Amino acid sequence: MLPMANKDYYEILGVSKSADADEIKSAYRRLAKKYHPDLNKAPEAAEKFKEINEAYEVLGDEKKRANYDQYGSADGPQFSGGSGGFGDFFGGSGGFGGGQGFGGFSDIFSDIFSAFGGERQSRVNRRGEDINVSMRLSFEEAIFGVEKIISLNKIQTCQKCNGTGAKNGRDFSTCPDCKGAGRVRMQQNTLFGTTIRETVCPTCNGSGKIIKEKCEECGGKGFKKTPAQIRVKVPAGIDNGQTIRMRGEGNAPQGQGVNGDLNIKITVGTHPIFKRVGTDLMFDLYVPFTTCLLGGKVEIPLTKGTKEIEIAPGTVNGTVMRIKGKGVKVLNRESYGDLLVTIKSEIPKNLTKKAKDVLKELDSKFDEGDFPKAKDFKNKMRGL
Ligand SMILES: [Zn+2]
Ligand SMILES: [Zn+2]
Repeated sequence: MLPMANKDYYEILGVSKSADADEIKSAYRRLAKKYHPDLNKAPEAAEKFKEINEAYEVLGDEKKRANYDQYGSADGPQFSGGSGGFGDFFGGSGGFGGGQGFGGFSDIFSDIFSAFGGERQSRVNRRGEDINVSMRLSFEEAIFGVEKIISLNKIQTCQKCNGTGAKNGRDFSTCPDCKGAGRVRMQQNTLFGTTIRETVCPTCNGSGKIIKEKCEECGGKGFKKTPAQIRVKVPAGIDNGQTIRMRGEGNAPQGQGVNGDLNIKITVGTHPIFKRVGTDLMFDLYVPFTTCLLGGKVEIPLTKGTKEIEIAPGTVNGTVMRIKGKGVKVLNRESYGDLLVTIKSEIPKNLTKKAKDVLKELDSKFDEGDFPKAKDFKNKMRGL
């Protein structure tokens, strides 16, 4: 390859011909940061960056700089051959010894790249933002599941240009720099040799395309905040505080990448009778104390319809009856929790004279043996 001897490397770096190594290095550092294609989106930045590197590759190296000063080329005299050029190349302070040595070039690069490395990474794998909304369900909707429509505004791919940003979705040409690949390889000539680094094409910003005329709908961005109606299938058994995540229903990325998610946080209303704990439902069933004594049938509510249950004679206050499988559906499974009914024996507050007389009569029919627990307790007290 012919060296570009016609370029003035001093002018490119903005230093004088008498500048010392430190001056050259700091000029390069400043310009490289200014025009680095990851940081500078101007179309001419990439070319400028290349030029700066080329200049520094020569002026930053004592040997090459000397050749450049003398012959207008970093490689020494051109086409002259002979011992002059050859000797010059191997002689003197030689190779890696002087000037920049090993450090300079790679140091500067690792500086720049470590400072902006994170950003470079995320640019490649962009993801749209999540949208977080909340949804209020009735107790029944949560138990049985429901289908709802959410209306919201989200960033979506522009329909008019199909996300290309170009008028009618066609008014673009393939990016000349990356040939449509969206990524370019940047060659860096360091003192260690040539390294090739792949990066997002700065010309087309990774799209592989150059827009000739912008889409008027989205102004060439390829995406737009637009109203959306999203159908949400709320599964039976969802509980208060749980979140439904709809993958890919969030915002579209602003560029290439995948959509964010739509997160729907659920709140569930209360029920006049049922309390819910996980997949179990429960309530207190108040019955007359006579029912507990004598036994009887009582109608209770279920999530769907009612059911008659049998209260056994002599049922103690606070007895819990477990009705299997009449609770809430387990999320995403064909199984159900239970219904727990706590029997509460209700005693009348005010008794008529007649009722009192009957109860007194009843009381006289019992003796200590009818109340073994009370008897037991009395015995324990006596023993104290
Ligand atoms: Zn558009
Ligand atoms: Zn490109």
